Amino acid sequence: MNPRFVSLMCKPVGRRCTATCLYCYYGPQTEDVSSRRTMDRATLEAMLAGYLPSASDRVPLVWQGGEPTVAGLPSFVDAVTIARRLARGGQVIVHVLQTNGTRIDEAWCRFLKQEGFLVGISIDGPPHLHDSYRRTPCGGGTYREAARAFSLLRNRGVPCNVLCAVHDKNVEAADEVWDHLLGMGARWLHFIPIVEWTTPQGPSRRLAPFSVDGEAWGRFMCRILDRWLKTPGAVSERNIDALIHRMVSGANTLCVTAPTCARHLTVEADGSVYPCDHFVSHEWCLGRVGQGGQGWRIVA
Ligand code: SF4
Repeated sequence: MNPRFVSLMCKPVGRRCTATCLYCYYGPQTEDVSSRRTMDRATLEAMLAGYLPSASDRVPLVWQGGEPTVAGLPSFVDAVTIARRLARGGQVIVHVLQTNGTRIDEAWCRFLKQEGFLVGISIDGPPHLHDSYRRTPCGGGTYREAARAFSLLRNRGVPCNVLCAVHDKNVEAADEVWDHLLGMGARWLHFIPIVEWTTPQGPSRRLAPFSVDGEAWGRFMCRILDRWLKTPGAVSERNIDALIHRMVSGANTLCVTAPTCARHLTVEADGSVYPCDHFVSHEWCLGRVGQGGQGWRIVA
């Protein structure tokens, strides 16, 4: 594998979050793996010092959680400064922040705009669909905060896409979801199916009730494709873009269409490294950055 094609997702606060979504993939099974601590400066520096030298000239750096903004704006200012210092001459770092929007305010918008961040906001459609699973710790819905953040980011000129999880409540409502998201002004969309299991493995494992199966997901995306075809050039949807890319150039821009994956390393707040955001468990741990003063580097 060419190490230059490896991307990095950093979880600066591990699983800590301002929301308690009922389908959250940080379920109880990851409680002992994903810490609730905040990544310290030494770990952050070790992570970037190991990654940037072998990464491509234009490299995405994804900040995700939990809710990454829980780390606080000063931590992000620090992280961006450190990344800039450690980057090779001419190397461009494209910072990506995935957020539920609850902490986004004017100060965050100024910073994100100034540093050229791409921001993804999680919105699952109109309030009655979004709030069915995306909840506050007190049990209320998070739609209002997510919509507020999306609108603020747009108004302040921060490039913003919508990550829409597709679950049992919205999977048969593709038109309603599409109309709502476009009505909000969203033009970059990414639909992802929720597929979680009742237990991690074993013969008794079943799809969790909020999950979607392949047929329902296929029906949803076919309907989205119908709608997308009626808005030529106006909307980007990541699954559709990836398929077109693959048909035209043969390149796989999404891991689910690629013959092999594990090109999107995930680093938890304690510095432990996993081959993918979906494989954060003890058996998949590749090691830890900065452990015992050792550096790390990505090798083929
Ligand atoms: S916002 Fe994301 S990390 Fe937080 S509870 Fe919801 S799904 Fe989990």
